[in-house]
Amino acid sequence: MDTGIHLVSSAAPSGRFATSNPATGQPLGEFPIASAEQVAEAVARARQAQLWWSQTPLVRRSAVLRRVAKLLSEEREALARVITAESGKPLQEALLSDVMVAADAAVFCAENAAAVLRAQSVPHANPALRFKRGELSFAPLGVIGIIAPWNYPLSIPAADAFAALATGNAVVLKPSELTPQTALELDRILAAALDAEGFANQPRPFQVVTGLGPTGQALVASDIDKLIFTGSVATGRRVATAAAARLLPVILELGGKDAMIVLDDAALDTATSAAVWGSMMNAGQTCISVERCYVHHTLFPRFLDLCHDKISQLKVGDGSLPDTDVGPLISQAQLQIVDRQVEEARSMGAGVLTGGQPLSGLGPNFYAPTLITGVTTAMSLMREETFGPVLPILPFQTDEEAIQFANASDFGLSASVWGKTAHATALARRIRAGSVLVNDLLSGFAVSAAPHGGLKQSGIGRTHGILGMQELVRPVYLDVDLTPRMKKLWWYPYAGNFAPMSAFAEIVHASGLRRLAAVLRTLPLLRNPRR
Ligand code: NAD
Repeated sequence: MDTGIHLVSSAAPSGRFATSNPATGQPLGEFPIASAEQVAEAVARARQAQLWWSQTPLVRRSAVLRRVAKLLSEEREALARVITAESGKPLQEALLSDVMVAADAAVFCAENAAAVLRAQSVPHANPALRFKRGELSFAPLGVIGIIAPWNYPLSIPAADAFAALATGNAVVLKPSELTPQTALELDRILAAALDAEGFANQPRPFQVVTGLGPTGQALVASDIDKLIFTGSVATGRRVATAAAARLLPVILELGGKDAMIVLDDAALDTATSAAVWGSMMNAGQTCISVERCYVHHTLFPRFLDLCHDKISQLKVGDGSLPDTDVGPLISQAQLQIVDRQVEEARSMGAGVLTGGQPLSGLGPNFYAPTLITGVTTAMSLMREETFGPVLPILPFQTDEEAIQFANASDFGLSASVWGKTAHATALARRIRAGSVLVNDLLSGFAVSAAPHGGLKQSGIGRTHGILGMQELVRPVYLDVDLTPRMKKLWWYPYAGNFAPMSAFAEIVHASGLRRLAAVLRTLPLLRNPRR
């Protein structure tokens, strides 16, 4: 794997770090830890590149992104293998939820940046301002910093970078220290697309700085114009504090505790398959995983049985093997969080119906797919993000109670409601989350046109979709007066102006004879020359 000599820099790195395969513990590669000086250099290079990139016609920028999509698609299997080796997820998940989501985002950004950047005219309603023309245009912010997590090591930073690049920004990406190689593959593909589209001799508008937390801190402190941070609530809080100190605008995509509500008219077989897949996919390490499942009491016993059967059939193993359904957790630290939460729940009276323990015979980071019930909000398992292959299920009595359960969380990222369409949709509208899916789950992230983001501790702002691109441009209002020689009636001197000005105010809001009388009372304004 890569040796990590990617930082074209005169400054020295602050050492190196190593990565390993989470399924086997085998070493994968060594990468430089970018120093604060190197981060500053990367931002300076990006700023220089942004000059030509933002002035390049949008059709040519879009052509680069379309080329990226083509390359991602052509290299999809090799890329999936890199992602699986670094993150542990099964190959199919790496292929679909990383590579193909990234390719789709590239095409979406290429096709929709024009709509985001299109200037609009701003008509003036006030009669005093009629001789002016207003225009609202949208300019790129400049250099966008991206700090990314490991759980979707390609699709998260790629979708954010494509939105930034499409709108004329340059990007500096700090990937997770657990998945740097995937980011360097993205860097290579973007460079190949720029070369193929005739920009081989231009400075690169996409830069990668590898490293640990302090490299991320250096990016927050650097000369970037906006930051997109995706990661845990704890780090997000630190990033937001540092950003506030220098008034750096930030988008924060943080954790989730997504609720799944299964109504009495839900299709039981489908909903149980969804609950199992939605909680176990990527070993439960998805910000929009099912972390709490609430089932109508009439379905509850059969729902538990079916989930138990389906979980028992899951194949846990190395994600690179073709029949693996559930891979390892990313690290020992993540495994310990999951184990601690399950053990605490068990000690407080929860019932573990299957799983509930590490599978150390398989490798260092495996945890058994776990079905648990009898949980309460006194347990961290029901309050904090678990990020593991654990499905907690509770019964509810009424729809009202289901909504209360779903909304009683410090998070508000996503949720799903299962049942007859009209019934489930009506309830979905009452859930406080950034996105709510009816009779589906997780796929919202794959819809490039849909905004992604949450409320409460799940974060601030949106990525993806038109709203995500609008976060990366600054509105510029241009106002042109078409009477360049005319002094305005409201300029100095004020003497004698108050009464006719008050009459003018009446013209704007009165009608009929009152308006005519007001017009006559404004005439002194015309006789009173402006200085
Ligand atoms: P993390 O917070 O540990 O790390 C995220 C990134 O921040 C890494 O690149 C890390 O090196 C960097 N970092 C660490 N300390 C930093 C500091 N002080 N300043 C700046 N950067 C710093 O998160 P993680 O474990 O990589 O990711 C898992 C978390 O991400 C989960 O909580 C998950 O819910 C969340 N997540 C959210 C979304 C979303 O869209 N809302 C998507 C994916 C993951």
